[in-house]
Amino acid sequence: MAEPIVALATPPSPAPLAIIRLDGDGCIEALMAIIPQCRRSLEARHPSAIEILWHEDGEAVPAIATTFLPPGSFTGGESVEIVVPGSPPIVRGILEQFRRQGVRPATPGEFTRRAFVGGKIDLTRAESVAALIEAEDLAAVAAARRVLEGELAHSIGEIGSRLLDLVAFLEAGLDFTEQEVEGPRGEEVASQIQGIAAAISALLDRRREGRAEPLAQRILLWGRPNAGKSTLLNALVGREAALTSGDPGTTTDPVLARVLLPPGGEVDVIDLAGNRTATDAVEKRALELSLRWLRGGEPVLYLLDSSCRQEDLEAEWHALDPDIRRRAMPLLTKIDLGSAEESLVTAFADGLAVSALSGEGMPELKEKMGQWLAEKTPTAGQGLLFTERQVGCLQQCKKSLDRIRDFLATGSIEAELLVVDLKQSHSLLAEVTGEATPERILDLIFARFCLGK
Ligand code: GDP
Repeated sequence: MAEPIVALATPPSPAPLAIIRLDGDGCIEALMAIIPQCRRSLEARHPSAIEILWHEDGEAVPAIATTFLPPGSFTGGESVEIVVPGSPPIVRGILEQFRRQGVRPATPGEFTRRAFVGGKIDLTRAESVAALIEAEDLAAVAAARRVLEGELAHSIGEIGSRLLDLVAFLEAGLDFTEQEVEGPRGEEVASQIQGIAAAISALLDRRREGRAEPLAQRILLWGRPNAGKSTLLNALVGREAALTSGDPGTTTDPVLARVLLPPGGEVDVIDLAGNRTATDAVEKRALELSLRWLRGGEPVLYLLDSSCRQEDLEAEWHALDPDIRRRAMPLLTKIDLGSAEESLVTAFADGLAVSALSGEGMPELKEKMGQWLAEKTPTAGQGLLFTERQVGCLQQCKKSLDRIRDFLATGSIEAELLVVDLKQSHSLLAEVTGEATPERILDLIFARFCLGK
């Protein structure tokens, strides 16, 4: 039995029209009680012109009411939507009439929560209702709609099934002795876990935040101090945006500049403090700041000074954090010095090489940056709008899978323990879709919704 609730679904300011929403058992009866002239019941899902009471003196205003019967409504229960004149005293008067009929005001997000509890939508879709309302641009709307249509829930469901299949496979082999997973069986399990972790990464790569600028419209410049980052930034923007110097460590604060790319695109390029071991407090702080930017998931242009020795550059590139390296494109700098060997240029992907001073290779670099952004920017068909909570659960799940895989790679693990660990990882996925989300988290999620949603 769902208590009847009522709320204004439109902003409370004066407007030509406003929408009042009701849900719960008896809400249609409450509506009938304040339609003085109505003799017959309203046909479900058909807007009906009515006169609705708004004042205790018996004054009524014209309105349009649509009723929905279970299970065909948004929440799955009995519900009503009424379009009324948007004058605040009239709206308040109508809400008061409903209260007198025993209908209580809804709490924020209560309609969507009912839809979730009633199994009409999963938690990712419920959350995307709020994201859709807050979306600031068309791409964010498209990304939120995709989640609302169930794309995120579907992908997580698929990943979850793979994880459960693996649990079932392990459980089938358990004979209740203290059995270790190792050798070829361990390798097989490790490779399956790796595949599942990769699927989570791929899903997270489709992340698009609900802000005006898409995630990938920024490129970070990184590399050792003196690799030529600031000089490159200045050459890209065509003015002195960042201070350049032969003294290592000149850039401490990130410097941001907008760069125009052919044929008409633009990107914010951010020059970060150099990649080196920090020796004093300022440098430490600068490095921390750079790392914070680098963890944000954006593409990185990693500068390598072509006048350095090839083996040193290769070692430097391979010492990069794998997550950063995956998103990074190596770029050889200072080729005007003429010291770069052919093998160095071919050793790094695409042989992208420039001189920011002479301008050599700069048009090719800009073209490459444009192509790269086009690849990285989720197109209209792929981006998904994640909430921080969803990202957190998915990242935690991936981390725990990576840990299990590393464990298997270095030794053996008791099968029963492995099953417990994998089930725990699965519960993080279930938390995203709401199959297993603690009540207090649900309270927090729905409290952020606006009234009437
Ligand atoms: P950052 O520390 O990576 O920002 O490096 P800077 O841009 O400050 O450059 C370090 C030094 O390398 C400076 O003395 C620059 O003049 C020099 N430099 C940068 N780019 C080039 C280039 O393309 N060619 C040559 N010859 N020198 C460069």
